[in-house]
Amino acid sequence: MSGPNTLMCPSADPDGAGAVVFGLIVGTPEAPETAYLEETQAVTPELLALADPVAPADMFRFGARCLRGGCAHWEAERAVCRFGEKTVRLAPAVVTVVPTCALRANCRWWHQEGMAACQRCPQVIRTGAIGHSEVRQAADPRVA
Ligand code: SF4
Repeated sequence: MSGPNTLMCPSADPDGAGAVVFGLIVGTPEAPETAYLEETQAVTPELLALADPVAPADMFRFGARCLRGGCAHWEAERAVCRFGEKTVRLAPAVVTVVPTCALRANCRWWHQEGMAACQRCPQVIRTGAIGHSEVRQAADPRVA
């Protein structure tokens, strides 16, 4: 069973602790979407090479251990991920039906924000190189 210290960040880098792939980024650069995998996949050099010439995080969604106090998005006082919270507040819902997602049982955002996070999650791109400005704002720790 997942405890608060074992939850996974749904917007991680491939070199994060315990990183797995849980989605493939499809759609367009203006409106990227995540195609969620039925099962998480291991991060391997071969998989990362498939993204070339773009960054792996522009092609895949990675989940990795939530760093809590080791992450700029963590608010210790309330024990919340502010990136997840701001994504719900700033970004539009892009789906009405919650996607089937292999990360859900351990996902920090799901445990914290519930369905509202999943309705916005498909458009989240870690690097911010593509996609919606609202997500970039949510991903900026300087934005309140
Ligand atoms: S926010 Fe929802 S859809 Fe996104 S990774 Fe977490 S459980 Fe999956």
